[in-house]
Amino acid sequence: MTVRTDPAALAALLEAIRHTLPAVRILADAGDRESYRLDETAYLEAGLPGAVAFPMSTGDVSALLMLASKHRVPVVPRGAGTGLSGGAAGIEGALTVVMTRMDRILEIDRANLCVVTQPGIINADLKAAVAAEGLFYAPDPASYESCSIGGNLGTNAGGLCCVKYGQTRDAVLGLEVVLADGTVLRTGGRNVKDVAGYSLTHLFVGSQGTLGIITEATLRLRPAPGPRATLLVFFDSLEAAGDAVARMTSDGLVPVTLELMDRETIRAVEDWHHLGLDVGAAAMLMVESDALGAGASAELDRAETASLAAGGRSMVRAADVQEADWLRQARRLALRALERQGTVRMEDVGVPRARVPELLRAIERSTAAHGVRCATFGHAGDGNLHPNLIFDRDDPDASALTHVVRDEIFRAALDLGGTVTAEHGIGAARRDWLPIQVGDPAVAVMRSIKDALDPLGILNPGRVLQLPSVAIDPVSRLERAGAGP
Ligand SMILES: Cc1cc2nc3c(=O)[nH]c(=O)nc-3n(C[C@H](O)[C@H](O)[C@H](O)COP(=O)(O)OP(=O)(O)OC[C@H]3O[C@@H](n4cnc5c(N)ncnc54)[C@H](O)[C@@H]3O)c2cc1C
Repeated sequence: MTVRTDPAALAALLEAIRHTLPAVRILADAGDRESYRLDETAYLEAGLPGAVAFPMSTGDVSALLMLASKHRVPVVPRGAGTGLSGGAAGIEGALTVVMTRMDRILEIDRANLCVVTQPGIINADLKAAVAAEGLFYAPDPASYESCSIGGNLGTNAGGLCCVKYGQTRDAVLGLEVVLADGTVLRTGGRNVKDVAGYSLTHLFVGSQGTLGIITEATLRLRPAPGPRATLLVFFDSLEAAGDAVARMTSDGLVPVTLELMDRETIRAVEDWHHLGLDVGAAAMLMVESDALGAGASAELDRAETASLAAGGRSMVRAADVQEADWLRQARRLALRALERQGTVRMEDVGVPRARVPELLRAIERSTAAHGVRCATFGHAGDGNLHPNLIFDRDDPDASALTHVVRDEIFRAALDLGGTVTAEHGIGAARRDWLPIQVGDPAVAVMRSIKDALDPLGILNPGRVLQLPSVAIDPVSRLERAGAGP
């Protein structure tokens, strides 16, 4: 089912925006709008936005949503467009609201170890700004040089240091959010502890632009950690690498990074970057410590012991911080290295950490049975793996086959007590599996939250939750909700 957007309603909305918000930049030209059709899920179909708006203040966002509600035009909130679930992809004829012009840091509050920021800032820029003050913002998606904080909040992004510091959600103290009708809501604040009522802050984090648009965030900072020490361990089998992860976990090791790359990924990265990785190995673990002083090398010693016990065949420690940065960059670029070889459908399954070896086996079994090329890497220390199905986009059979393999991998993850998405989100890509994973009662609660906050259903319709069985027809939904604008 597709969302119905009435061209006349869009034209009336654009006229109202030009009249009420003359300073807000609007893209109406089809060529310009085309750049906002897709996020990083190139394998998905997406609609061409009817217009693209670039607000510069909370007031602009509030007015845009008020007008969109009035004219019943669906709105797609968008950050930097690096998402991997289709959450920011276009909806045909809808208004895409891009938050990248709201990119100012409003305050670095040393006394309270927090930063107040607008959502459009790029993650790496925020990290650098607080690092200049001797502070540390932990959330660290591999895309940190190109993704926005708003997108990180929208997806509850994970990344390379969740083992130790958690996901984006764990760094959020408070938010300013604009609701679908233009109401500006503030949640949380600078308190480390705050249990006043339901945790609305955590409701919005990870809601993928379906409940409101985040216009400001108060984020937790930490004192700067030690410089990273990096260890690479190569294995003859994926199972052995998975076993090493399980051993480190049960040994109580909490490194800042515990990443896995399989043979295909090692080769793709090595072909591109020539780092001297062991291309004969079936798997590689990257273990990093940011413990202070001698703690870092002690932590890597323990990781080495666990890896040897699991059958590690060779190990390399980065000689210095620069070499460590270089190796980490190679891991961050794994997706780009694979994209040089075909269209990549990246999945994002997670399991309890001790079950990583079983998940790896299930991925291998399914891809081998269907003859689908797969490169797996991911945040093994979190139990979060990214099987990347590589295929020829012009071959419809190949595309259909990736769907079959995806379903088998999802089934395997759920059978292991896991999740179909650990950090990228349900978005548009995985909606069909949400009820299977969480069950109908949980979906019903999610839908009632959505209906309470967005009764007209204008915010990112059809993302996370399937469209209601009645097609988005805002007029009749409005009548059913008994509310008027
Ligand atoms: C090479 C590469 C590596 C990646 N590595 C990781 C990784 O390690 N970990 C990880 O978790 N992800 C990773 N990603 C995925 C992606 O970068 C993250 O999901 C990131 O959080 C998206 O940020 P963005 O600014 O690009 O958001 P977008 O893609 O623009 O939007 C993402 C979602 O957030 C919503 N949204 C955006 N801004 C707002 C706002 N202000 N208010 C409310 N909702 C909003 C959108 O509607 C959409 O649903 C990677 C992507 C790439 C291409």
